[in-house]
Amino acid sequence: MVKAVATLRGDSEVTGTVYFAQADEDSPVVITGKLHGLKPGLHGFHVHEFGDNTNGCTSAGAHYNPFSKNHGAPEDAERHAGDLGNITANDEGIADINKTDRMMKLIGPLSVIG
Ligand SMILES: [Zn+2]
Repeated sequence: MVKAVATLRGDSEVTGTVYFAQADEDSPVVITGKLHGLKPGLHGFHVHEFGDNTNGCTSAGAHYNPFSKNHGAPEDAERHAGDLGNITANDEGIADINKTDRMMKLIGPLSVIG
């Protein structure tokens, strides 16, 4: 079992924690967590190249894309490894995250950790 955690804090009022877990090399990554301070509705949810959220998507870099693919949805064959679709914030601006993903890895050379 490999686990990782991303604590989100930047210049915006959006904060939260996202947990990643992968049981073994052949298992999907389980992504859970909760974000606060979002506008109600859908929000794109991606792993970026860098863990630097101090200047939003500028400092975070592009979507994590080790296979040089085009952007896509999680269920597409053609997608960035960091493409995790959308999350939905409720009327209070809270999004509960509960996803599994087979392209993202925490184990091996293409791990998103770091
Ligand atoms: Zn993408």
